[in-house]
Amino acid sequence: MPRTDVTAGASSDGGFATDPGIRLLTRIGDFVEPLTRFDRGHLTLESSQYVNVDVIARQVFRVVFETVRSEGNGALPAGAIEVADKDALGRECERQLAASRAAVHGRLGAWAAEHCDAPQMHPSVSDCFTPLARAGHVERCAPCQGAGRIACSLCETAGTLTCEACEGRGSHPCKTCNTTGEITCPTCNGMRTVVTQKERKIYDEETSSHRIEHVQETATCGACNGAGIIKCGKCGGRTTIVCTTCQGQKTIGCPQCRGSGYLRCETCDGEGRRHFVAELSCSIRETFEAAARSADPETAAVLNGLSGISAVLGLAATHRSIVEISGDTLRRDTTAVTPVTTVMVEVNGKRTQVRAFGPQQDIFDYHNIAGMLLSDDLVVLKEALQATRRMPPRVSDALHASLATVLASEVNGSIAEGAAKKDQNGIVAALKGVVTADYVAQAGAAIRKSVGRAYWAMLAKGPAAVLAIPLLHAPIDLIVRRQGQGGWLMALTGMMLVTFFAALAAHYWVVQQLQTRLAPGGAPKIGRIVDKLNLTRAWLAAAGVAALALTLAVASLTGLLFPMTPP
Ligand SMILES: [Zn+2]
Ligand SMILES: [Zn+2]
Ligand SMILES: [Zn+2]
Ligand SMILES: [Zn+2]
Ligand SMILES: [Zn+2]
Repeated sequence: MPRTDVTAGASSDGGFATDPGIRLLTRIGDFVEPLTRFDRGHLTLESSQYVNVDVIARQVFRVVFETVRSEGNGALPAGAIEVADKDALGRECERQLAASRAAVHGRLGAWAAEHCDAPQMHPSVSDCFTPLARAGHVERCAPCQGAGRIACSLCETAGTLTCEACEGRGSHPCKTCNTTGEITCPTCNGMRTVVTQKERKIYDEETSSHRIEHVQETATCGACNGAGIIKCGKCGGRTTIVCTTCQGQKTIGCPQCRGSGYLRCETCDGEGRRHFVAELSCSIRETFEAAARSADPETAAVLNGLSGISAVLGLAATHRSIVEISGDTLRRDTTAVTPVTTVMVEVNGKRTQVRAFGPQQDIFDYHNIAGMLLSDDLVVLKEALQATRRMPPRVSDALHASLATVLASEVNGSIAEGAAKKDQNGIVAALKGVVTADYVAQAGAAIRKSVGRAYWAMLAKGPAAVLAIPLLHAPIDLIVRRQGQGGWLMALTGMMLVTFFAALAAHYWVVQQLQTRLAPGGAPKIGRIVDKLNLTRAWLAAAGVAALALTLAVASLTGLLFPMTPP
């Protein structure tokens, strides 16, 4: 059984010269300073602890074989070895599996000998298995008996069916002549002669005048030449009519087999043979688990939760691996010596513990350290908010001052931008460990309310007067009314547009004023926060509605006071 013991080089160097607790506090300061308005002077190191924790990372690689079977029509696919039948194929599969399995142990050993010192290396399928040729057998197709086709069930191989319209006679008896081939002559109705009425002018000598004499003349029927019957026009005297369905052929082509008498066998797709192929495939199943030898539950939870060997090695100062192979399984236990630094920090009179892992001191949870720094600012803002009024909008300088203080911390800027969102999970997740979800909710609500009050109050200070612009419509109305409906409507539309753009300008002026008061340094961008809190939309919508209502009111009032005189 190959057994390898390796110790990787330690990465410890000059970095350990300083006290790990001091180094960690510096890291915390580097993190907190850009996020909050506070510098590292607000953090006091109460105590620190530095230990090495052994993390045992167990990787298990199991070589798994599987026989993949497939089947298809026709001959064996190219490259497949042909065996006699199903039983022979089963024996061939077992032979291949046994041979491949037998080789695994040795091949895993060879791989381990070469790569034992690199825990991040994984044995691949090609390290454990050489693919073998597929094997298969061919069978005659049972449903078609190897013919590839099946007798048509409709015509029973004849390819034709008896014509149903004429019942196989090819013609119908003529009904017009009752199969006699002759019909009564329609001209003489069978009388052989025709009688014609004629008028004759006769001179009567007794009366010495002309008179009209009516006479009947009987003549032989010209249509039948005096026979009384003529040839049947329908059948032409043949007594029968050719079947139009079969054109006199007595049979029609079989619609199911299209006249061929056979159908293609669906089982073999007309090939007459089917092949059955088996192929041995190999895969490697990997499992990973980390177990930290630490009595501290938080440390153990962080280290046991590491997702893979790279994560473990990323936090290790040194590591060594032991490889064991049994049967088709390679197990590698890597002992990673992981430095863990713990500091107790005092923030604004409160204490919190922060842990860092690995030589680079990775911190996964800042334990609300930013929230602790920022909570006092939030208290002041909430107090200032008490003294504001919603209607008419009014705020105090204290609100501007405390809001400016709060927004000076980057974390609060991010919270402000997301405060109008229904789903706060995204922002909470982004700030996880930095501040608590509770802080995000409280700060979000307070900042949203404060920015809203400040915005409306600044608008009320003057710019809201743009809503009075429609009053100008009165004189304009009087001027343009001569130009008819078109001019009047255009003036109305123009008035509303002017009001709308004036409202937009008022918004930019207010944002500019607030930027100067709340964040003179330029960050965060107040316009962006105002937009994200949907205030811009609310103001422009309100201004639009007010402009429309007022313009229409002024227009109708003007019309009432100065009725239009007919030109
Ligand atoms: Zn078949
Ligand atoms: Zn047929
Ligand atoms: Zn017919
Ligand atoms: Zn006749
Ligand atoms: Zn006829």
